[in-house]
Amino acid sequence: MCDSVWSAEYPHVSIGMTMFHELMHMTTGVIDYKPTPRSPPIYDTNKLFKLAIDKPDAARLSAKNYTLFAMESGMNKDDFMKYSEGRSIIDMTCKDLSSGCYKLASGCCKSSNIQFGNGNSLTEQCCASCTHFDSTKTCKKKATCSNKYSNCAREVQRNPRLCNFRVKKDCCKACSEYNSSAASLLL
Ligand SMILES: [Zn+2]
Repeated sequence: MCDSVWSAEYPHVSIGMTMFHELMHMTTGVIDYKPTPRSPPIYDTNKLFKLAIDKPDAARLSAKNYTLFAMESGMNKDDFMKYSEGRSIIDMTCKDLSSGCYKLASGCCKSSNIQFGNGNSLTEQCCASCTHFDSTKTCKKKATCSNKYSNCAREVQRNPRLCNFRVKKDCCKACSEYNSSAASLLL
């Protein structure tokens, strides 16, 4: 191995995974799949997923696929996304198109107004991660809790006690944000 392995972002994981990948080559018949003999090998998760659909026999011989399988089955979801460059795939119509999707979607997607340069909403750009997070209790609650009026945040900041009354329903988002920031001050 070269010295540069230690400068990877997460050397404790990438060195182990690289060694696992190379051991697969040494002990089995797996290769780094190339569409043609002259093209570069495919390591990209999305392309390997498509390969499994189009040419399952070729996908079964890809060392990277075994490495990803080892990571996904041995790590919790957060670690897997962190160490595998975070591009989740549910199927060909629902996948993450950006590497930052897992982090962005963790703040819930339905209530988000993030828009990407290509015009996609967070749900469109990060379909797989959004499907994962939007099914959680926190995100479901967030999706049904919004502000009816544009001045909710300002009024709640000025007089938090408003949230004890009817305003709580009309300014649900502002009130819950105020409550969680007040709770964090108490910690
Ligand atoms: Zn290889």
